[in-house]
Amino acid sequence: MKKIIRIFLNILYPRHCPVCHGILKDQESLVCPECENGFNRVGSHYCLKCGKPVKAQEEYCAACRGHKRAFDRNRSVFLYDGKLRQSLVRYKYYGAREYGDFYAESVCRFIGDEIRRWDPDVLIPIPLTVAKQRMRGFNQAGYMAERIGTKLEIPVSHDLLKKIHETRSQKKLNAAQRKQNLRNAFCVKEDLHGYTVLVIDDVYTTGSTMEAAALCLKAAGAEKVYCITLCTGQG
Ligand SMILES: [Zn+2]
Ligand SMILES: [Zn+2]
Repeated sequence: MKKIIRIFLNILYPRHCPVCHGILKDQESLVCPECENGFNRVGSHYCLKCGKPVKAQEEYCAACRGHKRAFDRNRSVFLYDGKLRQSLVRYKYYGAREYGDFYAESVCRFIGDEIRRWDPDVLIPIPLTVAKQRMRGFNQAGYMAERIGTKLEIPVSHDLLKKIHETRSQKKLNAAQRKQNLRNAFCVKEDLHGYTVLVIDDVYTTGSTMEAAALCLKAAGAEKVYCITLCTGQG
């Protein structure tokens, strides 16, 4: 019965390829065979803190060398380039939720081993504010976290971390304003002493969102805060 429903849904709302956006010939697959490696991946040299690409002999990127991070580590699968940006726009704003299945699959395929080594107690998607979630009806990170959690058999919590204010762009703020801006963005109501948590988001750019979330989670007692992002800016 489930299969029949799925076939009907596929006729009504055919699944598209997250890379070329064409209708998938095989509706049971997540990506066209020729698009399987269509996104550019972060290579084997990446910052041991934030996961951004670095030169072969470097351990940390310039930003992490001069700056203490609130989170323990971040890993990203892909580079945030034009192709990925377009894919994420369709995923987030134009209803292509099926792209999230491919994103989650890619995270498990390329970073799954590392996640297992971190051994998190819970996966936490970066939340949207209540207003934004209502407007969009969908949290892009939450959808990915659900699928990653199912695949790796790790529980997912959607309400442990709450977003109470929008993080304004950090660029125009001075250091004190930045700190305040970050500190106000999230809140955690539970006691997380002894917990290892894994935060999930779609894009890592300056790391300010992850910093804000990690600050909050650590203040609530979390022992380790690891992060996974689908893609990262070049640095
Ligand atoms: Zn394709
Ligand atoms: Zn770094």
